[in-house]
Amino acid sequence: MNDVQGTYGSLVFNDAVMQARLSKDVYKTLKKTMAKGLHLELDVANHVANAMKNWALEKGATHFTHWFQPMTSITAEKHDSFISPTGDGKILMEFSGKELVKGEPDASSFPSGGLRATFEARGYTAWDPTSYAFIKDSVLCIPTAFCSYSGEALDMKTPLLRSMDALSRQAVRILRLFGTVNDERVVTTVGAEQEYFLIDKKEYMKRLDLICCGRTLFGARPPKGQELEDHYFGALKPRVAAFMKDLNEELWKLGVPAKTQHNEVAPAQHEIAPVFETTNIATDHNQLAMEIMKSIANRHDLTCLLHEKPFAGINGSGKHINWSMATESGINLLEPGDTPYENAQFLLFLIAVIKAVDEYQELLRISVAGAGNDHRLGANEAPPAIVSMFLGEELTAILEAIDAESEYHSREKIQMEIGATVLPHFPKDTTDRNRTSPFAFTGNKFEFRMAGSTASVAGPNIVLNTIVAESLRIFADKLEASTDFKKDLEELIKSTIRKHKRIIFNGNNYSEEWVTEAEKRGLRNKVSSVDALPAFILPKNIAVFEKHKVYSASEIHSRYDIMLESYSKTILIEALTMIDMVKKGVVPACIRYQNDISELLGRKKKLGDFPTQMEESMLTKISRLSLALHRSLEETEDSILTAKTNGDHLAAARFYREIVFNKMSGLRQVVDELETLIGSEYWTYPTYSDLLYSVN
Ligand code: ADP
Ligand code: MG
Repeated sequence: MNDVQGTYGSLVFNDAVMQARLSKDVYKTLKKTMAKGLHLELDVANHVANAMKNWALEKGATHFTHWFQPMTSITAEKHDSFISPTGDGKILMEFSGKELVKGEPDASSFPSGGLRATFEARGYTAWDPTSYAFIKDSVLCIPTAFCSYSGEALDMKTPLLRSMDALSRQAVRILRLFGTVNDERVVTTVGAEQEYFLIDKKEYMKRLDLICCGRTLFGARPPKGQELEDHYFGALKPRVAAFMKDLNEELWKLGVPAKTQHNEVAPAQHEIAPVFETTNIATDHNQLAMEIMKSIANRHDLTCLLHEKPFAGINGSGKHINWSMATESGINLLEPGDTPYENAQFLLFLIAVIKAVDEYQELLRISVAGAGNDHRLGANEAPPAIVSMFLGEELTAILEAIDAESEYHSREKIQMEIGATVLPHFPKDTTDRNRTSPFAFTGNKFEFRMAGSTASVAGPNIVLNTIVAESLRIFADKLEASTDFKKDLEELIKSTIRKHKRIIFNGNNYSEEWVTEAEKRGLRNKVSSVDALPAFILPKNIAVFEKHKVYSASEIHSRYDIMLESYSKTILIEALTMIDMVKKGVVPACIRYQNDISELLGRKKKLGDFPTQMEESMLTKISRLSLALHRSLEETEDSILTAKTNGDHLAAARFYREIVFNKMSGLRQVVDELETLIGSEYWTYPTYSDLLYSVN
């Protein structure tokens, strides 16, 4: 057996371990709980906890933790050791069923958006038995959901699980109509492609902006950026290759099926993609992957930047969420088969997604909102802030034929001729790829490409599952009441296509023309998160979440407030960091450089008749820019002081967006120009070239 086969999942309390370590009865009950989402009895939990503890101790673990995902996009953990003193100076190692299924962390310092006052600090974590426990840094981690004393979700996992249930309930109704009787659940599947940057840690440590904000707040354009497109899929540099090797090994031990890795478009940018899994597991695994990426990078004296836009002027990082639905028995419901035009069930699921995306564009936009992602969407490198769908030639032609009530003629797959006889011939895909679409059908799944690289996979999936559940509910209501299934089904497909075809766009989403065209079609285009967010609390959007029991109205309001607040806080931290760096690094550099030039100028003049044009011209330029710097700095500082903080989160976020952010942009412009003029020994911050080419 290969080493990897031997160690894959070795740190996971997975199915094989459970089978080996639990009695048949306990194992069966647990499996049933996992499959059906049932309640777990305490005696079963006790057995499982004990087996888990023994396994963890053998693997060297000393502590356990309820691992959860508060509304911060990152994970949280508080460790408890297994030790229990016996009174005679010795200890036992203990872990009970109660400790496994429920925890009570102090919830007061996690964002709750007003769901829980600080005096009601109590929060609960509850075991999610559908996601396996694992060992990380000698700690047994138990994936859990996190909620308030009154049962409101304070995390990402709870609504995600609820949304998966919602979709399952409605999808099963559709399957029944098509004669599937055995499957009781439909799951959603996700494969998340993750982009990131790797830079040298020594350089990183010299930039407060990277440390505090995850992105550079200034930096002049380097002589070489991504113009030559020579980084994408390029050969890996040895340090990067070593990092990836370690990363894969660590992820594999944790049962994360890391599969694909390559260099991305921007210098120092890379991507990792796992094999797809059930959505909540894929979500846990993506959180885990992001965390492990950072710690492995550290081990290699590198820093992994997950921010959406670490560097201006070159591509930022996203997370492509590949999404589909599958039956319990593993049949992909978005698999068109060889004859999609005859596959009514496929077409129905497909148009359910089309209807959902068109009707709830705003929610999808909101699901990827955030200060970081605002730098990408609409900046000609990532899909625009306009939500639209790419279906490819064949599916579009099928839908057009249905719309026009004409016959669809399937095209034979065309043999592709590559030109050299030694190369194999293979059938050409019936659609090309479209890299610019925010929501693309890619053969047997959709790829949602708007999410930011730091975002939890949960956010977009909560929305996607809920809105597709709503389409399916409407379809099922109609078709269950039908007396002529075939006729009503055809009618339903036709009318849905007619109503929602405006969302389909197969062209270049990065073009100016598309912005105009989309506006004509009535599609939303909210470039800034602050402008996009208010739609979250529209009655229509609250209603869809409430109807499917994914969020209560108060849970939505709390999330809305948290998103706005976190937007304001992000900009504030960035502004403060920028001010600090300008005062402590840029201003002194200006002064020292000017001082040296004027000293030289004075000396030259004293000594006699030397040409001084260069010194004078430099001094004039830098003096002018210094004045602009001074003004811009003051304006930025003033803008923060006048920021509204009187409890109106939307007004505050708007102020940060429209005033503070703009002042920062002005300040950045001056700093970047100064960087191009001032000698490098005066400029204390690593430049873009230093950062982007720091790893060899
Ligand atoms: P590309 O870069 O061409 O988009 P990748 O291979 O990098 O392709 O990523 C494709 C992702 O889609 C992988 O994570 C893969 O496992 C995932 N995927 C494939 N089939 C499904 C499916 N049915 N549901 C969800 N994700 C899927
Ligand atoms: Mg992709």
